[in-house]
Amino acid sequence: MEMDCIENDEIHRNGTYHLSSTKTQGGATVTNSVYELLDCPVCTFSMYPPIHQCHNGHTLCSTCKVRVHNRCPTCRQQLGDIRCLALERVAESLVLPCKYYNLGCPQIFPYYSKLKHESLCNLRPYSCPYAGSECGTVGDIPFLVAHLRDDHKVDMHSGSTFNHRYVKSNPLEVENATWMLTVFHCFGQYFCLHFEAFQLGMGPVYMAFLRFMGDEEDARSYSYSLEVGGSGRKLTWEGTPRSIRDSHRKVRDSNDGLIIQRSMALFFSGGDRKELKLRVTGKVWKEQHNPDSGISIPNISLPDHSVV
Ligand SMILES: [Zn+2]
Ligand SMILES: [Zn+2]
Ligand SMILES: [Zn+2]
Ligand SMILES: [Zn+2]
Repeated sequence: MEMDCIENDEIHRNGTYHLSSTKTQGGATVTNSVYELLDCPVCTFSMYPPIHQCHNGHTLCSTCKVRVHNRCPTCRQQLGDIRCLALERVAESLVLPCKYYNLGCPQIFPYYSKLKHESLCNLRPYSCPYAGSECGTVGDIPFLVAHLRDDHKVDMHSGSTFNHRYVKSNPLEVENATWMLTVFHCFGQYFCLHFEAFQLGMGPVYMAFLRFMGDEEDARSYSYSLEVGGSGRKLTWEGTPRSIRDSHRKVRDSNDGLIIQRSMALFFSGGDRKELKLRVTGKVWKEQHNPDSGISIPNISLPDHSVV
């Protein structure tokens, strides 16, 4: 059953080869036939060592080899365990442009280092910064801003100062709660304000932090402050927004933001401490020059005790 599916797929694909034109990108020109040789005929992804072949010479990637139960999907003969070293060597000799060439990346790489670069390429698309749900959306910043507004219905604000209220009627139940993301637009850039509750060490805390919708280098051109308080006390945080290249979780786990112990948060909320009512104010500003030591990513640890 499974075999038939793969075979049909294969026949279909042979009839409709998509890779019809010669690829000429970033100065690298390789005839399409070489490219085609390196595309797995079953899954169509690029093949990396070990590249396998059957006794009749049909090639196959190592992922597909496991799936076809030792039978060549093309000729249905026993597959055996034959490497296709010649093709692996051909791949080694190829030089290809980064796949984000169309987005402006001018770099060219040997076949086997291309994937590694692409996973770190500065021009690769960004992942959706929305936290609290699995969202696989990727794109450039304008696309993601529209996506956050239209699909996640986030609050959008213009201006470099903000004043945001977070309310929770039963704060003692809050574990790993994430509030609605707020997106700020200022200096021609977009920033995400996160606020959430989680367990840090022994105690429950609330944390607010800002992420920059852009890469790390540009993020370092900005600073922000957050302030929360009540009854004549206040906590202030000043920091550099983290790029959305760093996951929301990573920023949270490095404690790079305003952290409020729950008892303090309830104190700031006033009243009978049964309801969380925090007003977080803040502002974003542009630094005149990049801080020299801005490269290091802080991991600030707090004392491991809970406030009673
Ligand atoms: Zn494959
Ligand atoms: Zn075969
Ligand atoms: Zn690139
Ligand atoms: Zn999303």
